[in-house]
Amino acid sequence: MGYYVPAERVSRGGRGASLRATGMVFVGFFKGFRETLVHLFSRPVTMHYPEERPKLSSRYRGYPKLIQEKDGTERCVACKLCEVVCPPRAIFIRPGELPDDPKERYPTQFDIHMGRCIVCGFCAEACPEDAIEMSYDFELATPSLDSLIYRKEFLVREPLEREKR
Ligand code: SF4
Ligand code: SF4
Repeated sequence: MGYYVPAERVSRGGRGASLRATGMVFVGFFKGFRETLVHLFSRPVTMHYPEERPKLSSRYRGYPKLIQEKDGTERCVACKLCEVVCPPRAIFIRPGELPDDPKERYPTQFDIHMGRCIVCGFCAEACPEDAIEMSYDFELATPSLDSLIYRKEFLVREPLEREKR
């Protein structure tokens, strides 16, 4: 099957069409070459990560961290609000009572499954004690899913001073 092309059309358009096609090839070639030259002398946007570290904005939100004061006191009172608001159910808290004050509670276990966490920040928003904050940390790559369960011991840190960055 093919299209019928009258002989007079072939003879009229043949040479002109081929010149136009050659012209388009050259125009395309010079456009591409011009782009290459422009980028050859402009500042590179890539970096040698992880040797070079990206400069993150002070508004950057990485994965959540638990806050403790400089004297080691934990802010978390194990109220479980963050666990309830977390959309993918990534938080698990086991509350315990302080031995010297049974009215006060603290998390004996506080896990965040980073394989589930969507870094939405709801937990930090909901916490009445400001005990969770979104950190600058973003490197989560791991060969095993189990190692994405971050335990309390790993999550605890002193509060960030964002304005200094
Ligand atoms: S940042 Fe969002 S998804 Fe991650 S633990 Fe907090 S509430 Fe859950
Ligand atoms: S981190 Fe905040 S919201 Fe979550 S259990 Fe502790 S005090 Fe409650």
